[in-house]
Amino acid sequence: MAEKLTAVKGMNDILPPESARWEWLEEKVRSLMARYAYRNIRTPILEHTRLFVRSIGEVTDIVEKEMYSFEDRADKHGDAEHLSMRPENTASVVRAITEHNLLYDGGKRLYYMGPMFRRERPQRGRYRQFHQIGAEALGFAGPEVDAELILLAAALWRELGLSDWRLEINSLGQPEERAQHRAQLIAYLEQHVEQLDEEARRRLHSNPLRILDTKNPAMQDLVNGAPRLIDFLGTASLAHFEGLKAMLDANGVPWTLNPRLVRGLDYYNLSVFEFVTDRLGAQGTICAGGRYDYLIGQMGGKAAPAVGWALGVERVLDLLKQQGAEPPGPVPDAYAVVPEAGALPQVLKCLQALRAAGVSVQMHAPAAGSEGMGSMKSQFKRADASGAAFALIFGQDELAQGCVALKPLRAGQEQAQQLQPLADVAAWAERLRSLP
Ligand code: ATP
Ligand code: MG
Repeated sequence: MAEKLTAVKGMNDILPPESARWEWLEEKVRSLMARYAYRNIRTPILEHTRLFVRSIGEVTDIVEKEMYSFEDRADKHGDAEHLSMRPENTASVVRAITEHNLLYDGGKRLYYMGPMFRRERPQRGRYRQFHQIGAEALGFAGPEVDAELILLAAALWRELGLSDWRLEINSLGQPEERAQHRAQLIAYLEQHVEQLDEEARRRLHSNPLRILDTKNPAMQDLVNGAPRLIDFLGTASLAHFEGLKAMLDANGVPWTLNPRLVRGLDYYNLSVFEFVTDRLGAQGTICAGGRYDYLIGQMGGKAAPAVGWALGVERVLDLLKQQGAEPPGPVPDAYAVVPEAGALPQVLKCLQALRAAGVSVQMHAPAAGSEGMGSMKSQFKRADASGAAFALIFGQDELAQGCVALKPLRAGQEQAQQLQPLADVAAWAERLRSLP
């Protein structure tokens, strides 16, 4: 026997009926993004490795150990390119807006959805191919856009029926302020070097801020006692942060200050934030983001401020499941029962007309290997299992009269079956349609 093939570790198939929940979420997101005037952007999944090294930062988990990178085949000049599967999408968005000079006529509000790739240890809420939905506002400096993005996320939770979250915010200030903090932080960590794990020792001088982001339980007391970046902020940074807080307060979005929130990527400044929940175990962050005012310039574009977030689709859907806030499963309006195969051309024609009128119809098709169309009994069993509210019976007698029989299948629909004319589908399609 041939070897059975399986998906790559940490990469999941999304199958029906589960995939309907994904579509439902994506639909909600599209509708909401349209109301906030965010436009869709789609960038390639493969990019030059150096894009991520330069944007995310060399001394970060992602670039140090999580990227899927490979050397492409050499082209005719003999140059092989180093490529990586995108581990996140902000870098690609920044590349795209720079490459296409998208900010030439002012700021842009963009959103994306799609798969990201990180070679992490697979566990609940942590996969090697996972999906993010992200929103980015580029070319705007004021805290009102930070607030707009956070309100957008909060509105999404509301429309999805997610209630069990809290918002943590912090400000990372500006590079000069970080430099002052950095010196004090290194001094503090050097005093306690025996408490640092191997990774923290390695990062002590290259990226000490990252140590505050550690998930090592043994280091929590140490990092809690570390100098707080927020205490090094100057007036302008503080005013930006106060502006954001005031707008969140005015809109009834509760937040807590988390002075240790630094985010796992290097490019942030000023506002950073995370939506977290206690219901998903260790993988409790459902959405995270912040301001990255220097990234566009650093990536070779004309300097412009920007802010954005990304949510983890798997985690959001998991949390929804925890809360029992399930979307309605997909169910056809009608199931077409076809006693004789000879009727199929007429059946298909009628179903085409119904579908064009907005009715969702599942056509009976016999299982592979069975003879004929299958008994009426087995067809009605299928009709029931489909969840459809009506069966359409294309029997010889009905067809001879130019009709199809419409039979209600659900409890509470005690009406007898009715004949409906095939010549005028529009006249009765409305009755079948569950969606407005
Ligand atoms: P974490 O601290 O959980 O590793 P992160 O800081 O690496 O998260 P970001 O790069 O900010 O995550 O990505 C934004 C969101 O994407 C996260 O808040 C999370 O919901 C989701 N996410 C990140 N990595 C994964 C993954 N490997 N599997 C599933 N979702 C993920
Ligand atoms: Mg991570």
